[in-house]
Amino acid sequence: MTLDNSCYGNAAEDQQGQNYDRSFLEENHSYRDMLSTLDTCAKKMGVCWDDYLPLRYPERELTVSIPVEMDDGHIKVFVGYRVQHSSVRGPCKGGIRYAPDVNLDEVRTLAALMTWKCALVNIPYGGAKGAVQCDPGKLSSRELMKITRRYTAMILPLIGPEKDIPAPDVNTNSQIMAWIMDTYSAFQGFTVPEAVTGKPIEIGGSLGREEATGRGVLFTINQIARTKGIDLKKASFAIQGFGKVGRTIAQLLYQEGYRIVAVNDISGGIYKEEGLDIADLSNHVRENPSHLIEGYKAEGISSITNQELLTSEVDILIPAARENQITEDIAKDVKAKIIVEAANGPTTPEGDQILNEKGVVVVPDILSNAGGVVVSYLEWVQNLQALMWEERKVNAFLRKIMEKSFQDVWELQEQKKTTLREAAYMLALERTIKARKIRGTFP
Ligand code: GLU
Repeated sequence: MTLDNSCYGNAAEDQQGQNYDRSFLEENHSYRDMLSTLDTCAKKMGVCWDDYLPLRYPERELTVSIPVEMDDGHIKVFVGYRVQHSSVRGPCKGGIRYAPDVNLDEVRTLAALMTWKCALVNIPYGGAKGAVQCDPGKLSSRELMKITRRYTAMILPLIGPEKDIPAPDVNTNSQIMAWIMDTYSAFQGFTVPEAVTGKPIEIGGSLGREEATGRGVLFTINQIARTKGIDLKKASFAIQGFGKVGRTIAQLLYQEGYRIVAVNDISGGIYKEEGLDIADLSNHVRENPSHLIEGYKAEGISSITNQELLTSEVDILIPAARENQITEDIAKDVKAKIIVEAANGPTTPEGDQILNEKGVVVVPDILSNAGGVVVSYLEWVQNLQALMWEERKVNAFLRKIMEKSFQDVWELQEQKKTTLREAAYMLALERTIKARKIRGTFP
């Protein structure tokens, strides 16, 4: 680390920073938690406060209202957000989630996580995130399309291939990305595939993007197993979440011949000591109108609660649902030796501390789930050049990036005698601070 060790805290009494902290952080727990990890790392690295301070703030935030004529003819107004945390290393990048309980604090936090994730895997992007407060399960496809198109129109001043590039996240998919791309293009007057990633293949999506997050998690699991000398054929896995990401991970692990003993989703969980038939379960979920595990029947399975899944006797636990799942209470009872975070922010800081004290190895989200944004980057690169790569090439690139990032983080955690999470944040912070210093402060 080349940054000045004596520098940290020089301006710790920074007035603006303190004001920002007071007015905002008390109410915004999730952003506060993210900052506390970041502050700890900045302090340990001994970075200069003046270099670090601007990175504690999101650069730009937009809250929009989205009036939509519903199928019954009435108008409903939805709330949407787009937060750009940092454009220091390149255009902002990050997904859009649809959820009834999403708020600005969550979007801010996720935008910052994108900054650190992109810096960690060293792709030339900053971080952003967007969201619409809605429950897609209660909307018709037509209503979903209208919300998406109006939301896109409302955030139009912020997005664009050279400014900020959206992608899928929780409850959004390639169809929604297609509507965003189409709406953006309609305003430009020509087709702009590179405005959005995670699109259907037919309109410029990349082969391998759909499975990219899951594949990245698989590469991470292989890396940790290799590093720690674990025989994955003998290991057992539990996966929380059987949506886009959780299901792909389960399928990829199953194809490798690994034993997945527990999975769940919002409809409930199932357990089988000898290992679940993931192909059969995936068929059930695909054909089930609700696309949930509910109603699945197979020999030897028993049902388990979410808490039982998170604390089950397994070697590797993969949280692949939402944030704040592994709390202090859960962490105390976690029996897995390794946790690979596939969701964004699944572990609370209190939970994390307990896991560290117990010696559980936690591979942090910004490392293990970076596969999605890595292949988003490859999609954007293909679009910019009007090229279409073979899936083999995409997967090979993804593998190289994931393996290199894992190695970098592993080496730093050994060198600094810290956790993988802190090492990952340190690397990301170092790269972002360096970029900022080179660019300088305008004016
Ligand atoms: N939503 C994904 C994430 O949280 C992908 C973002 C992207 O591809 O831009 O990493």
